[in-house]
Amino acid sequence: MSASHPQATAGPHRVLILGAGYAGMAAATQLAARTRRADVQVTVVNARERFTERLRLHMAATGQQFAELDIPELLAVTGAQFVRGWVTAVDAQAKTVRVDDSRELRYDTLVYALGSVTDTAAVPGAEDHAYTLDGPSGAPALADRLARLGGGTVVVVGSGLTGVEAAAEIADRHPGLDVTLVGRQDPGAAMNTKARAYLRAALTRLGVRVLSGAPVTAVLPDGVVLAGAETVAADVVLWTAGTRAAPLAAAAGLTVDERGRVVTDTTLRSVSHPDVYAIGDTAAIRQGYGVLHGTCQSGMPTGVHAAVSIARTLRGRRPKPFRFGYYHTPVSLGRNDAVVQFTRPDDSPRRGCLTGRTAVWYKETVSASPWPTYRRMSRLPASGAFWPRGGRFTRVRDAR
Ligand SMILES: Cc1cc2nc3c(=O)[nH]c(=O)nc-3n(C[C@H](O)[C@H](O)[C@H](O)COP(=O)(O)OP(=O)(O)OC[C@H]3O[C@@H](n4cnc5c(N)ncnc54)[C@H](O)[C@@H]3O)c2cc1C
Repeated sequence: MSASHPQATAGPHRVLILGAGYAGMAAATQLAARTRRADVQVTVVNARERFTERLRLHMAATGQQFAELDIPELLAVTGAQFVRGWVTAVDAQAKTVRVDDSRELRYDTLVYALGSVTDTAAVPGAEDHAYTLDGPSGAPALADRLARLGGGTVVVVGSGLTGVEAAAEIADRHPGLDVTLVGRQDPGAAMNTKARAYLRAALTRLGVRVLSGAPVTAVLPDGVVLAGAETVAADVVLWTAGTRAAPLAAAAGLTVDERGRVVTDTTLRSVSHPDVYAIGDTAAIRQGYGVLHGTCQSGMPTGVHAAVSIARTLRGRRPKPFRFGYYHTPVSLGRNDAVVQFTRPDDSPRRGCLTGRTAVWYKETVSASPWPTYRRMSRLPASGAFWPRGGRFTRVRDAR
């Protein structure tokens, strides 16, 4: 097991952040703002220079284009170094990370923020025959296929919110296609009656056929097989059901859960390797009401908290426990409709929800807000960021 506090090194303390998604960028920008450059050297490794707006991947899957958000450009303001490359291994004993199998980076503190991918290993055939929204190639490849399709059937597997958003977007942008949404649960199952009914009516209006209570057991080149052996024919299958973390953490000997996520203590440090912080989708972070499920909503606060904790630890103080409460579930229903369910901190639905144009505006504001937030955080030294804690927005202080 590694030491729980940073080791004294001759030069600046080396913080290596793996992954520049929503959580990793929050950690990088907050850390740079909260520490002195002479004391701390922050390096961020990411597969590509362009920030992947995962919240918009269902839109990218229908060919919509977005502004280029350049990670090195933003990090230049902070003094953090950027390394473009694919992380291939972590050696948690030697405290090194291999990038592109050719380069080795050393760290004193590691921030593990590699996100998650769709779990296509869940059923036979999904890996080979289904599209996913993952990464920069998944959504554009699907967009290309849909654009060439002309007519036919698209089956979207997974009736969680990613599946709902994808099915609605495809039906909205490609009215000539038949879209079927297949999954175990009713779409919007976690919402209140009003929001759920609104969501279902919107899917009906868009012509999306819903098959719920129908787990998919296999994906074929031309359709999917349901439990009970019924098949649903499809020209294209999009798989959105379930996520898993990269196997790197488990291979490095970090304690992980059944989905490969790094199990953290209350302060977001790995329970087996306290010099590793795990944040965002790739971390299994327990709160009083259960383990956080992957959202940008919770991922960004985990990045801020890790940065605050590292800054505190470098000053010889103890990191504080992370506390988070959910506050909303915004769901787009094509380009002109949406529903927003407000939630209690444990993610159960409140009575309030937004629908229609107001919800569209709200959802767009949420989706667009991370990058301006990083800009703000990177420029304001030790800025207080506001995050929901226990349902109330509270200023995060690092208490120097
Ligand atoms: C279509 C869709 C809509 C969504 N809508 C919402 C929403 O409305 N609200 C919400 O809160 N959440 C939403 N989510 C979930 C949200 O996108 C994720 O929870 C969030 O992206 C997690 O952030 P992260 O930083 O942990 O991971 P990511 O954002 O996935 O970032 C991980 C980064 O690590 C990089 N990476 C991964 N492996 C490697 C490697 N080996 N080497 C180098 N780099 C690597 C990736 O390229 C990426 O840049 C949505 C997800 C999808 C797919």
